[in-house]
Amino acid sequence: MNNYPLLKKAYNSDDFEEQGKALIEQLTQHLKSTQLPQSPANNWQDPLEQLHYWKKYQFNNINSFVDDLLNHSIHLHNPKYMGHQVSVPAPLSALSNLIIGLLNNGMAVYEMGPAVNAIEKIVIELFCQKAGYDNQANGIMTSGGTLANLTALLAARQAMKDSDAWKDGNSKKNAVLVSAQAHYSIDRAIRVMGLGDTGIVLVPVNDCFAMDNHSLQHAYDATVSSGLNVMAIVGSCCSTSTGAYDDLDFIGNFCQEKNIWFHADGAHGGAAIFSEKHKHLLKGLDIADSIIIDTHKMMMTPALSTVVLFKDKNHGSQIFHQKAQYLFEDKGIDEQWFNSGLRTFECTKLMMCLKFYILWKSYGIEIFEENVDCLFALGKTFANIITQHPSFELALEPQTNIVCFRFLQKGLNKKQLNLLNKTIRQTLLEDNEFYIVQTTLNETIYLRVTLMNPLTNDSHLYQLLNKITKLVQLH
Ligand SMILES: *Cc1c(COP(=O)(O)O)cnc(C)c1O
Repeated sequence: MNNYPLLKKAYNSDDFEEQGKALIEQLTQHLKSTQLPQSPANNWQDPLEQLHYWKKYQFNNINSFVDDLLNHSIHLHNPKYMGHQVSVPAPLSALSNLIIGLLNNGMAVYEMGPAVNAIEKIVIELFCQKAGYDNQANGIMTSGGTLANLTALLAARQAMKDSDAWKDGNSKKNAVLVSAQAHYSIDRAIRVMGLGDTGIVLVPVNDCFAMDNHSLQHAYDATVSSGLNVMAIVGSCCSTSTGAYDDLDFIGNFCQEKNIWFHADGAHGGAAIFSEKHKHLLKGLDIADSIIIDTHKMMMTPALSTVVLFKDKNHGSQIFHQKAQYLFEDKGIDEQWFNSGLRTFECTKLMMCLKFYILWKSYGIEIFEENVDCLFALGKTFANIITQHPSFELALEPQTNIVCFRFLQKGLNKKQLNLLNKTIRQTLLEDNEFYIVQTTLNETIYLRVTLMNPLTNDSHLYQLLNKITKLVQLH
């Protein structure tokens, strides 16, 4: 080591202590500054300008770099951050990332991640119980909802009778039914699985943007009569654009009747299992054969951290194995829960369970209920404010913390209103004070907020509408 001065320096633990203390202090100041009334939520820059800045950037030390990074990043802790569905991490949970990064226990085999394989099992058991599953269930944590949806759909395919896709590939023409408002990761998973264009059947949505129950029967009949095998039906709970919950109870019963795999995509809204007040939105969740929930959305942890749950542990255990092999040789995959690599796509896997576990054990399980209740209540409040405002209209009454709305102006036709709302959103983006996004529903452009920050309050919501009104007047 003495012949390698850089390595010697890089592994010096006194340096780590010094840098670490300074960094925590700096990030603490950042958190405080995000709460000042004048601090911007965003630091918008054109992508090419941004690239140019970093290409000519002179790196001095980590602290000056973090300052510059902060000045070129979006600040989720700012209460005027109301954009995408990414959690505003509770600072303690961000510290768990530090532990994860330093310990770096890969989780595939027990020896490499002894404590975390056990802790992950405890976290999974909690989620299974909250989802209404019994002790036949199991699950796994994985890096993000996208990979989680793929994992669940792979399980659905592997659970089909008369075929073993792991061994033989797609021996049937399979299709998956999803609502037209489902997250695009479902479409990707289906295409990655080789099912192609005919593999995804979009079921129309109702006025509330949830899967239309009547259309489901129709879509099912049409799919079957075109010679396809319906491999699974996916319920979104909730959907991304509008936060609408599909009727899981209806879809679940439909699936049971037809003997089809039922997958519940609860990446965002699955966290409502922790809320007494809102868990009714998930009625029927316990019928699902598989469920996914991101903790880096509504559960205050940094990305990525997702649970995939299986009602029947045999299904959760046979995804990455030939069926015969599973039955005769690897009978103990579930019993080998401690070698979690047998049941997940990932090999070197982050110790992601710690992000959730440390919050859970430090603050109690009620913290997740508080977060869901607080954010969903903010969604309601904002909807009420919009309803009472003469210049704004809601796309739909929100069920969650996702609110779609638009500015209205007399005398403008639909096309002009679309252009106006698009311009409003772009102006807000470049203005930096707030961060919100937009979505298109039935060819109408809406402004969209996801109220992810429990530090956002009524006054910020009024300020946003005032700002938009002023912007329009200036134009
Ligand atoms: C966010 C989201 C996903 C994707 O999850 P990632 O963790 O971003 O990969 C899938 N489905 C729904 C409904 C989502 O909201």
